[in-house]
Amino acid sequence: MTVSPAAAPVPGAAPAPSPAAAAAPPATSGPAFSTLPLPPHVLANLQQLGYERMTAIQAASLPLALAGKDLIAQARTGSGKTAAFALPLLANLNPRRFAVQAMVLCPTRELAEQVSQEVRRLARAEGDIKVLTLCGGATFAPQAASLAHGAHVVVGTPGRLLDHLERGTLDVQALNTLVLDEADRMLDMGFAEDIAAIARHCPATAHRQTLLFSATYPDDVAKLAARYLREPQQVRLAEKTESAAQVAQRFYEVAEDQRLHAVGLLLAHFRPERTIAFCNTKQQCRDLVAVLQAQGIVALELHGDLDQRDRDQVLVRFAQRSASVLVATDVAARGLDIAGLDAVINVDITPDPEVHVHRVGRTGRAGLTGQAFSLASMDEMGRVGRIDELQGRPSQWHPLAELQAAPGAAPLRPPMATLQLLGGRKEKIRKGDVLGAITKDFGFDGADVGRIDVNDFSTYVAVRREVADAVLKALNTGKVKGRSVKARRL
Ligand code: AMP
Repeated sequence: MTVSPAAAPVPGAAPAPSPAAAAAPPATSGPAFSTLPLPPHVLANLQQLGYERMTAIQAASLPLALAGKDLIAQARTGSGKTAAFALPLLANLNPRRFAVQAMVLCPTRELAEQVSQEVRRLARAEGDIKVLTLCGGATFAPQAASLAHGAHVVVGTPGRLLDHLERGTLDVQALNTLVLDEADRMLDMGFAEDIAAIARHCPATAHRQTLLFSATYPDDVAKLAARYLREPQQVRLAEKTESAAQVAQRFYEVAEDQRLHAVGLLLAHFRPERTIAFCNTKQQCRDLVAVLQAQGIVALELHGDLDQRDRDQVLVRFAQRSASVLVATDVAARGLDIAGLDAVINVDITPDPEVHVHRVGRTGRAGLTGQAFSLASMDEMGRVGRIDELQGRPSQWHPLAELQAAPGAAPLRPPMATLQLLGGRKEKIRKGDVLGAITKDFGFDGADVGRIDVNDFSTYVAVRREVADAVLKALNTGKVKGRSVKARRL
């Protein structure tokens, strides 16, 4: 397989939408849809839907996908990614042929419902296109009956789609487009084997177009792409399109002895689920973590003094949403690919304005909501001036007194807890084994389980905080892959 170099950033590519408008439509400053090889009735429908110009991800992927290429596209929800695969799959479709010609795999039922709706909206131009959503949690028989009536497009979660394929209620002989949506999340949720089994039912890569969308591009997604895509083109948007200029930034003036306390106030007031707090020194990191922990906030420290094992564990816990705040120095945070941050706090103002822009650029990415807060003392005003100069606009100041926790609000808590199992890759433990034990053997709901990370000697599993102790007990008394395991809550 050859992966072509990343597509060039689109001229005038769309910036991330303003974080203040979470559900606002994505920025659409790309070329007009009329520049694409789409038939007039499709363009007319797009216009009716209010789609005139493309989003950055659409402008980068649609020309390639409509030319029939397999694609690896890095894009998040809210970027307009659904249309980026829905239009090509519809272009491949023959409405007069009553057979499933496109299948979209999604990690969750909610996403599958959203994707189905968007495909239906975009399909209006084509006449009678039947789109079915096939997810677990719904009864099987009515889905089978709908399939028997014929569908053009199926959208669903891997487990249920595979169930239909194995029971013969879903036939994909005529499939010409396969979409893997949010591939990274599907792998995190332990769907790798189901995806492999589904792919075995599909026509070979030479006879189908495969489009893979993923917010991040870790090794396991690259391996997935290598197995199921044919000479894919890679579409990745330049970081520049997500620049700090689009992030809402609030500055607060603090006295030195207010600074660490102000971080707690920011968290209580804005209640971001996941925050990185940047400090200029390791000592400041340590002091802040102590202050936050004393307030019952799950804050973890990331700095150069940690050994590799501790560092990995901190990053896993943060990625698994079982910690609210990562307190880091710039050096320690360098090169980290942490997605989905709600807030960045500049606990100290950095002397280097470029570093400030880089810190702030970690939030508000690609349509995700995000905010950046900066705490500055009188002594740091010169640094703020240099930041203003670099950003080409004055900073927005707010009074510290505006920060107030909602009366009666529960303390900020992460939604998940991380359980560590002794035993990992070396013991041949796979994500599916752990997920299977917790859901099938111990009877917990799939929705209780979050991301699973398997390292060489340990496995980390995120579970909802409310059930964490019960899952821990089940793990320590039950078996995973036929063997007893030792588990602890981090
Ligand atoms: P998605 O990232 O696919 O979930 O899309 C986010 C939202 O943006 C959906 O409500 C789409 O209907 C809308 N949308 C996608 N592309 C465009 C576009 N080019 N112009 C206007 N709205 C769009």
